[in-house]
Amino acid sequence: MELRYTPEEVAFRDELRQVFQSKIPAEIRRKVSEGRHLEREDIATAHRILHAEGLATPNWPVQWGGKDWTPVQRYIYTEEIQRNAVPMPLSFNVAMVGPVIANFASEEQKKRFLPATASLDIWWAQGFSEPGAGSDLASLKTSARREGDTYIVNGQKTWTTLGQHADWIFLLVRTDPAAKKQQGISFLLVDMKTPGITVRPIITIDGAHEVNEVFFDEVKVPVGNLVGEENKGWDYAKFLLSNERTNIARIGLSKEKLARVKERAKETPAGDGTLWDDPDFRRRVAIAEIELKALEITQMRVVAAQRSRAADKPDPNSSILKIKGSELQQMATELMVTVAGPYAAPMPSHSHNEPPVGPDWADAVAPQFFNFRKTSIYGGSNEIQRNIIAKAFLGL
Ligand SMILES: Cc1cc2nc3c(=O)[nH]c(=O)nc-3n(C[C@H](O)[C@H](O)[C@H](O)COP(=O)(O)OP(=O)(O)OC[C@H]3O[C@@H](n4cnc5c(N)ncnc54)[C@H](O)[C@@H]3O)c2cc1C
Repeated sequence: MELRYTPEEVAFRDELRQVFQSKIPAEIRRKVSEGRHLEREDIATAHRILHAEGLATPNWPVQWGGKDWTPVQRYIYTEEIQRNAVPMPLSFNVAMVGPVIANFASEEQKKRFLPATASLDIWWAQGFSEPGAGSDLASLKTSARREGDTYIVNGQKTWTTLGQHADWIFLLVRTDPAAKKQQGISFLLVDMKTPGITVRPIITIDGAHEVNEVFFDEVKVPVGNLVGEENKGWDYAKFLLSNERTNIARIGLSKEKLARVKERAKETPAGDGTLWDDPDFRRRVAIAEIELKALEITQMRVVAAQRSRAADKPDPNSSILKIKGSELQQMATELMVTVAGPYAAPMPSHSHNEPPVGPDWADAVAPQFFNFRKTSIYGGSNEIQRNIIAKAFLGL
């Protein structure tokens, strides 16, 4: 197992770092670093710059704009993008629907959708979860009944992240109500402007509009928007979810956050010195850093194993990375709340039109702490990941 980067890999990392630091506007990187909410334009600007640099879709097939990188180079890319506080290219496009279209759609669909998906001319949303179908996704009820060349879609999706910005949505729908639950599902691409679609915001505990409910009432979708075969959607969904969980540890992001925690703690008065002089606080940071180092080494072990494995097969180790990675992201936001102390107000000041009471950076601290509770739920909850580990490693 080789955990150190080769000189070529170090050069590759430095080149990426240079692009991320020089091309992405400092204001957008500042927002990411401080954990502020990004506007649609921030996400789109960063995505389009990365696309222009050939860095938005490295994991796609080369023919469609992907990179012939090694697993280590792919790891370095993710680590550096996060470490440099650059917004990730929109995951619904890049990590989810793009690879599904590239692998399972018709040539015509590939030509129609892939270029616009890579460049973000189409903004996609993920329409999988429903009330009553989250962890047990195969219980989904949204139906698509075929009438000639059209599917008629009825039902409800929920937790649809950034659905308020979406041009299109990829849906899992039930096309055969009589089949066993995994076997009657299809994967449909739906234009959000189609009559019969209603998007309703869900305002989360941090006061943000990040997720939505989406309702479908007799929505007409051309049969040509079906991906792959009818009733085979579950296979495509499994493929998509295994991509979603790749790099879910977000080690670069936690490193960036812990670096900010230390920086701010050194500026925060406490007792006769600063918070950084407090041994108990330093102990908490040390625990987080040690855990993060251990996670990084685990991640590198997974990457090293991939060096010798040709196919990108889903790896049950990604469940360990998901659990530990999400816990560490949450731990970093908890430490930042300690640093901000009484200035960690639960809502950002702009939400009630008042100037921040404390330092400007502290304004986003508590909202992000609340927001990051999501990391142990989405992408397959941590309890579900534990079930996967129990099956794969313990044989339970
Ligand atoms: C911020 C956020 C954004 C999201 N964005 C999207 C999106 O864009 N598109 C989309 O389709 N979905 C999205 N989701 C949905 C997400 O995938 C689901 O929330 C997740 O799969 C959990 O499903 P659920 O919320 O229905 O909870 P449930 O499945 O009802 O689970 C409730 C609790 O029970 C536990 N549990 C459930 N089953 C088991 C079991 N078998 N063993 C042990 N424990 C179990 C869970 O871990 C959880 O703690 C998002 C969720 C969040 C929080």
